Amino acid sequence: MAAPWEDVLRNEAAVQEAARVAVDAALLAGVLMRTEGEPNASDVVNYAPFTLLPSAVPSALFEQAYAVQQDFNVLVDAISQNKEFLEHTLASTIKVDDFTARLFRIYMQVLEEGLAQPVFLGINRSDYMFDHGVDGTPALKQIEINTIAASFGGLTSRTAEVHGQVLKVLGKSKEASCLLPNNPSKGLALGIAKAWELYGSPSAVVMFLVEEVQRNIFDQRCVENELWNRNIRVIRRRFRDVFEKGSLDDARRLYMDGQEVAVVYYREGYVPKNYDQQNWEARLLLERSRAVKCPDIATQLAGTKKVQQELSQPGTLEKLLPGRAEAVARIRATFAGLYSLDVGEEGDKIAAMAIADPDRFVLKPQREGGGNNLYGEELRQVLEKIRDSPERTSYILMDKIKPQPAMNYLLRAHSPLQVSECISELGIFGVYVRQGKEMVMNKAAGHLLRTKAIEHADGGVAAGVAVLDTPYLV
Ligand code: ADP
Ligand code: MG
Repeated sequence: MAAPWEDVLRNEAAVQEAARVAVDAALLAGVLMRTEGEPNASDVVNYAPFTLLPSAVPSALFEQAYAVQQDFNVLVDAISQNKEFLEHTLASTIKVDDFTARLFRIYMQVLEEGLAQPVFLGINRSDYMFDHGVDGTPALKQIEINTIAASFGGLTSRTAEVHGQVLKVLGKSKEASCLLPNNPSKGLALGIAKAWELYGSPSAVVMFLVEEVQRNIFDQRCVENELWNRNIRVIRRRFRDVFEKGSLDDARRLYMDGQEVAVVYYREGYVPKNYDQQNWEARLLLERSRAVKCPDIATQLAGTKKVQQELSQPGTLEKLLPGRAEAVARIRATFAGLYSLDVGEEGDKIAAMAIADPDRFVLKPQREGGGNNLYGEELRQVLEKIRDSPERTSYILMDKIKPQPAMNYLLRAHSPLQVSECISELGIFGVYVRQGKEMVMNKAAGHLLRTKAIEHADGGVAAGVAVLDTPYLV
């Protein structure tokens, strides 16, 4: 299962030389991030963190992840249109989780007014780890699906090229030629372009809704450039700009600075800190509009951890995807154990089980972006504190996935070069477009491999824990 570069890992001189080449190759290829010190200026940039070497990924699991992506697209889209399911599933959560409750209020408000939006665009990323079974065979297990602001599709479109060069420098040309091409930024842009076209106003623009702090701008620029290449105008705005200058006309067409907006692509708005009162008002304005939101508020809610947990309940997938038994089976095969902590006997039992054996589980609140989950002793302490309180329903419990570690070097600016024991998480990008009731596009749009040292239980690339990687299929 290991990648064929165990020999290289122990050759310090070769590693040093390869790391120098790797960093320059990354800068040349545009695997870039702005710096922590100057997050909103492009005068000083650095390379985004990445592994020196590609990581081994079992090819059967890689193919399985691609094969189930269209099913997940259909599932997320079905959930987003199922008010009864969202209402029922999130009922206990919104009583105790203010952020989900606010999103839900906007959702209900928009439904009451009636949807003006005729075209729907979903860009998601389904993330997996390779669980190492007792018999030694790895299994594909979903960590979560991200239905809003799923990132790194741009930068990862350039990492295979960098890793290919590193392998060549290390005398592994044959292996370099086996690395798969991967271009999510193009796939994402094709989805946005399709939604823009179906919106049907050639002078309208695509608006990227971006955060105040924009360290990861180059990742977004990769997608923007694909749109400009197709002669689609792109503007970048923050919630604050929308609050100050956004407006709707009688047909609820959205205007920014006098320009009609066909598509709003959110790279913002997924965590509470993205919102103050004005930003909530801006969000409501956008959701009420005719513009294609990627995602609309219903699709954002479809990506909550509580929904993920509910999907694992017997019979739920069958109800959401009637007549699609094969899709249901493919989806279910990727589920790890997920447990509700809702008030009641069942929830009491689950809480007791986790307190007794915390290392078997992950405790997850309804949050995104990494660094929010609880593990081990901390999980036990928190759960003991809230076990008799309704607050526990703001969390879900999940079986902890345990992948087999492999050695690699994580290249980070200003950090010493040292070998680490690492585990990886594979993400598959999904893109779909629906016009009214008809799916007009449904695709897997590329992949993202992120790798982190095993001492970190949680966290993504933006959280400073994981780094970009390239799969080497074995
Ligand atoms: P977020 O929305 O914050 O990204 P995730 O569910 O993706 O939340 O969890 C964040 C990170 O925590 C993941 O990238 C992964 O490294 C780790 N993690 C999450 N769930 C599990 C699990 N069931 N087993 C092992 N690690 C997990
Ligand atoms: Mg995640």
